[in-house]
Amino acid sequence: MTATDFEGRLREASLRVTQPRLAVLNAVHTHPHSDTESLIGAVREELPEVSHQTVYDSLHTLTAAGLVRRIQPLGSVARYESRVGDNHHHAVCRSCGVIADVDCAVGEAPCLHASDDNGFVIDEAEVIYWGYCPDCSTRS
Ligand SMILES: [Zn+2]
Ligand SMILES: [Zn+2]
Repeated sequence: MTATDFEGRLREASLRVTQPRLAVLNAVHTHPHSDTESLIGAVREELPEVSHQTVYDSLHTLTAAGLVRRIQPLGSVARYESRVGDNHHHAVCRSCGVIADVDCAVGEAPCLHASDDNGFVIDEAEVIYWGYCPDCSTRS
């Protein structure tokens, strides 16, 4: 992904192209599943003067526009990724908290069918796989 690709994404979403938004998109793309603090650090490598608030605001805007996906496993702070729209899931390490992408087994939401939908029109099943990452499972 280049700066031009990120500009295109902002324009497609009818968002104004700004330096902080481009830098935040780039940071989220380069560091998938990062939390806000790490993203601020990454954005500052490109834009040293950027404020916390600007990064927060950009993340919020990009998430609301669907360009960035926010995930928050239990016990973790919010994390962000640029892989959106494919209903992929996550595997989370119980020990160190590292997150890995897991492709949806079915390919589209909802990938699990409720045994009883209680009359709801269900469009998504939120799936998180919990366990131990390769590093943590070999260490113990
Ligand atoms: Zn781990
Ligand atoms: Zn992911």
